[in-house]
Amino acid sequence: MKSLSNVVTRRKIWISILLGILSLVVSPLGITAILGETRIDIPWALFLPILVSMAYGWRFGLLAGLSGGALYPFLLWPNNGWANVSTTLVYLLYYALLGIAYDKSIIKNMKKIPVRVFIVIDLIILVFCLYYLFLFNPILKLNPAFWVENSINKLPLKVLQSFLLKNSVNIIILTIISGTLIRLPLIRKLLGLPSRRGILANHKIFVITMFISALVWISFVGLDALLFEEDDAMLYQHSLLSFFVITASGFIASRIIFYYAERQYKMQHKLNKSEGKFRAIFENSNDAILIIEDELFADCNPVTLTTFGCSQGDIIGKSPFDFTPQYQSDGSLSTEKAIPYKNSALNGEPVRFEWQHLRFDGTTFDAEVLLSRLKFNRKILLQAIIRDISERKRAEKELITAKEHAEQSDKLKSAFLANMSHEIRTPLNSIIGFSELISDPDFEPRQQLEFARMINDSGNNLLAIINDIMDISKIESGQVQLRKNVVSVNTLLTRIQKEYSFKSSQKGVELRLDPLNPKAEITVESDGDKLGQILINLVGNAIKFTENGFIENGFIVAGDFLQFHVKDSGIGISPGNHHQIFERFRQVESAYSRKYGGTGLGLPISKSLVEMLGGTIWVESVEGKGSTFYFTVPV
Ligand code: ADP
Repeated sequence: MKSLSNVVTRRKIWISILLGILSLVVSPLGITAILGETRIDIPWALFLPILVSMAYGWRFGLLAGLSGGALYPFLLWPNNGWANVSTTLVYLLYYALLGIAYDKSIIKNMKKIPVRVFIVIDLIILVFCLYYLFLFNPILKLNPAFWVENSINKLPLKVLQSFLLKNSVNIIILTIISGTLIRLPLIRKLLGLPSRRGILANHKIFVITMFISALVWISFVGLDALLFEEDDAMLYQHSLLSFFVITASGFIASRIIFYYAERQYKMQHKLNKSEGKFRAIFENSNDAILIIEDELFADCNPVTLTTFGCSQGDIIGKSPFDFTPQYQSDGSLSTEKAIPYKNSALNGEPVRFEWQHLRFDGTTFDAEVLLSRLKFNRKILLQAIIRDISERKRAEKELITAKEHAEQSDKLKSAFLANMSHEIRTPLNSIIGFSELISDPDFEPRQQLEFARMINDSGNNLLAIINDIMDISKIESGQVQLRKNVVSVNTLLTRIQKEYSFKSSQKGVELRLDPLNPKAEITVESDGDKLGQILINLVGNAIKFTENGFIENGFIVAGDFLQFHVKDSGIGISPGNHHQIFERFRQVESAYSRKYGGTGLGLPISKSLVEMLGGTIWVESVEGKGSTFYFTVPV
């Protein structure tokens, strides 16, 4: 690295010296124009040390100056003697200050280089002012040529002013020339300076501007030649002066056009970069992004194609309503519902809303849409970011159902507990009450017998309730096991009929076997206890819910199944409850207006047992007329 920077520095030194010498050598070829009293000499080659200052900094500017760039007065005006030393010094000062103005590492706060250069030029003109007004004549006197008596030992103010004018013009013009040239890639290459892509167009601009300047100058000289046919000296002066003015204008014009061209390039570059970034986001987004121009899709990203299930050609040029069902899920007309969203986005207020979309195959899906306004190439566009949320919606729905279910089962459990306490307390109260009475000797033995029967009934009731609870919890925890044996169906039905006819007859209800029951002995390989439990449950319910009439127990053989039925002429069940009564804790009557009692567990237990045995259970019922419960078991 060090050796490389040494090489670079050595190269800069050589270039500075060479350009310094060159500027001295060619300075006599400068332009001279005489305007009355004022002689304007432009040693044009002085732009070389200025170029060095701008390119390499103030040290190299000084080096170029000392190598020749500031020594030209000695060559051009040898008579001025000591005064040339001062001019040289002022020029050296100018090169150094210009180098500092161009060096970004020295002046940090003042950012714009043209501003700094402007200040430096002003400063140097001020120095020239002071120099010509106060120092030039005293210094001139020091020259031996002026020591001779009677010789002119001072220059008149007018001449000094012309010097001031000349030098000021020199500095301004030469700085503009150098400032223009340093922005040419070729010059930068020669000086070993880096070039940005943004200045590549400067060559063309420079050549064209200079060519136009040359044409203007030639036309001017041509016109001049026509006007001042006789006056050759005047023609010559005019040609030189116009060359000077027009070429300088060419340089100025180039510089100005460079500025705008570079700015344009920078802006374009920035735009391209941000467009590239936007494109990358657009292409790689996980959501579908669509650009809408004049109510039609103008562009879309790859995800859009998978979301809508189509190709880009199917989307571009279509209306968003081609991908929307006519009505939204809330029943509103899509075209009407979209209006406020569109207006809000066009007003610069992005909107997020849920929308039902149509895929290419005609299926719909729920989407979340973010609609916003975009300005591109002075056009107002809309950008729609579409996210398929059908999965989320489905999960939400499931969650709501689960919540409702949980709430429902919570309600049912509370009702169950309320029932339960009532159901348990009733037989317990009766047991406690009658057991107290039974020991009272005032009662007759007949009455005491009645009390004992009441106590026994209540005990059985309690046992039934506890059995139900035990059964349902066993079923739910999967602890119930089947014990299959050969069951004689007629015997089972007859036993139950006998066991419960007393209870039903007490209510004035006849419990009978269906006369159509097959008479032949029918057996089935099943769990007799469970079968009995199911039938007892159904018969028990029938007795409970029948006030008068009959209850009939029966069965038929239906293909591979035995189909049992327990029919009653009781209160019946409304159609809406035919399914619900098989769910846990469900009762048709509410917990708070109870007439019949019960826990709501009998039918769910029966249903589970039937299903364990391989059958199904259902009810047919007419409210107020009676019910028939059916269940099947495989033969
Ligand atoms: P419980 O009888 O203990 O209330 P069940 O699960 O056996 O519980 O019955 C649930 C509900 O079904 C009963 O509360 C009742 O409303 C209705 N039900 C059952 N069987 C009959 C029937 N034979 N007639 C009328 N309603 C009945």
